[in-house]
Amino acid sequence: MADCLFCGIAAGEIPATRVLESARTIAFQDINPQAPVHVLVIPKEHHPDLASLAGAGDGLLDEVAAQAALAASSLGVAESGYRIIFNTGPEAGQTVHHAHAHVLGGRPLTWPPG
Ligand code: AMP
Ligand code: ZN
Repeated sequence: MADCLFCGIAAGEIPATRVLESARTIAFQDINPQAPVHVLVIPKEHHPDLASLAGAGDGLLDEVAAQAALAASSLGVAESGYRIIFNTGPEAGQTVHHAHAHVLGGRPLTWPPG
């Protein structure tokens, strides 16, 4: 999709520090990390939010979730624990309208989040 930051990253047109890639997803370091481990997992295909991604119904959301768990494992926080977040809509602070899973870990995470 034109003018979408994460489509640009998926296409390799915008630089990102990639940590994992699968057939239909990419995981890369968040540019403004909120924890020692803060990775974003995106579908290469554009979906504006989680509802759209889930609605695709073709296993893409499963692949994003599996890659999020794999990223947590490969970055060493599978045992200590981690959090997966899909911010959705303005009150959740979604700023990039290309669905993405945040993978956060490496420090104690408060609950509920602020
Ligand atoms: P959200 O607020 O859930 O939409 O999350 C968007 C995330 O994208 C934020 O955590 C940003 O720090 C991150 N972000 C924005 N631009 C980039 C970029 N060029 N590379 C990596 N992460 C980015
Ligand atoms: Zn996009």
